[in-house]
Amino acid sequence: MRSRYTAFTLQRMDYVDATWHADFRPADPGKGDSPRWLELAVIDSKPGTRSAQVEFEARYLAGGRVNAVHERSSFCFEQDRWWYTQGEQLPPTFVPWKPARNEACPCGSGAKFKRCCGRGS
Ligand SMILES: [Zn+2]
Repeated sequence: MRSRYTAFTLQRMDYVDATWHADFRPADPGKGDSPRWLELAVIDSKPGTRSAQVEFEARYLAGGRVNAVHERSSFCFEQDRWWYTQGEQLPPTFVPWKPARNEACPCGSGAKFKRCCGRGS
């Protein structure tokens, strides 16, 4: 269980993208393009054999701003794999910020923000 859970945690960003229910996806008012995921911090986890909970903060870049989702996700184990069932949105702990145009892009590309994810914003 533990190793499976760890693997699952490491794959979380793909998992978020692939299976996140539309109702829980962060909205991106103004642009409508999907956010670029930057970083995932697992804050707390309650592993179990049939169900598990993970509290996380996932940072993303959208509309020229860095923002974050803070959520407690619930999962169940069925048919040999974990399934995301639902997420409870938690109060944000992260203050959104806008990188300066000449700052290194927060996506880690090494390019300046204005020449990378900040283009057109
Ligand atoms: Zn970038």
